[in-house]
Amino acid sequence: AKAVRLDKFLADAGKGTRSEVKKIIQKGQVQVNGVPAKKPEIKVDPEKDVVVLSGETVGAAPEFVYYLLNKPAGCVSATEDRNDRTVMEYVPSDRKGLFPVGRLDKDTEGLLLITDDGMLAHELLAPGKHVDKTYFVRVEGMLTVENIHNLETGVDIGEEKMTMPAKVEIVGGSWEGAGDSQSGRVRIENLPEVYTELHLTIHEGKFHQVKRMMAAVGNPVIYLKRISMGPLTLPDNLKKGECRLLTEEELLRLK
Ligand code: URA
Repeated sequence: AKAVRLDKFLADAGKGTRSEVKKIIQKGQVQVNGVPAKKPEIKVDPEKDVVVLSGETVGAAPEFVYYLLNKPAGCVSATEDRNDRTVMEYVPSDRKGLFPVGRLDKDTEGLLLITDDGMLAHELLAPGKHVDKTYFVRVEGMLTVENIHNLETGVDIGEEKMTMPAKVEIVGGSWEGAGDSQSGRVRIENLPEVYTELHLTIHEGKFHQVKRMMAAVGNPVIYLKRISMGPLTLPDNLKKGECRLLTEEELLRLK
């Protein structure tokens, strides 16, 4: 690892802003390799030097960070956009190099991984390496047995090849009230009289794939939320617009 300034090291480790940690250093509260260090500009090697603040060893900034966002509708899956809010506005970090792994449409909600680990993103997104993605989907109308069969075996969404096999599980519909696990049985505005809720699991990640698949069988999507991606599932307690670091366990399952 490269040597970095002591104040930057402490700020990156979350010990305060750059000016806050400078004051802490100047007060003599920081030791490097057992020696008090009063100069913010001295260099430390995060892998070799032991930095102690008020008696506690400060860990090096992690090489990569991994966030799980419950994306709200109304923002785009990009790092920058001239017209729209981006998902990055919901990430509580200004680390450089963070980006969303894959895309959800502006009006789609749910699980989005945000990281600066390009290798992992490649593993998850490269053609032929795609992981399963499950969506909670609310569509207009009823799904016939034939529609379900077609979705599961492959439908024509206007590309060269039919879609790959998918999995459909009906989870609710107008006959029993909306059952979105995150909103509970709350009243949902502008629901059509007849609608169906399903979990659709797909392996590919074509542009607007879920919407195009449902349109192809005559059941247009009215609400779409991703609830899982590979080994990651959207936690019930992560509200729309909330973001948290992956747990150690989630990260292990992902790698
Ligand atoms: N499929 C879609 O149509 N939209 C998404 O955002 C994700 C999958």
